[in-house]
Amino acid sequence: MADCSNTDGYRCADFLKVVHEKLKGCFYTIGMAYKDPRDPRKTLSRRRHYLKNKERYISNAKRSKLRMRVYVRSKKKRPCANCSIKYPYYVMQFDHISDKEYTIATLVNFNNRVKIDYEIAKCEVVCANCHAERTHQRGIV
Ligand SMILES: [Zn+2]
Repeated sequence: MADCSNTDGYRCADFLKVVHEKLKGCFYTIGMAYKDPRDPRKTLSRRRHYLKNKERYISNAKRSKLRMRVYVRSKKKRPCANCSIKYPYYVMQFDHISDKEYTIATLVNFNNRVKIDYEIAKCEVVCANCHAERTHQRGIV
């Protein structure tokens, strides 16, 4: 019986061929295999769809990342919570007041506005100078 679980290392068109080879005589080909999220046939199908629509996947990812970046920048359009001076978005930073789970820059890649809003709610928007000063005063250097 072939082992279908060890296909993670393949990332190209060869991947499809390897999975196909391994399917012969495998238990996944019997019964309710489609209900299993790790079913190699699902992996194969998803991979095939990705390869067929690669440009669309990439352009969608770029567009959503850009959309999230614009959203985060819009959240920075306010005066500094410390010195009350208004600076451009690239000077403003999110200062975590309570428990920090993620940095906002990391969350931009996740394309999850709910998570970003949740994390931003734990922050104050401050300018880079005030952020450095606050961090130093807290002793988290
Ligand atoms: Zn400031």
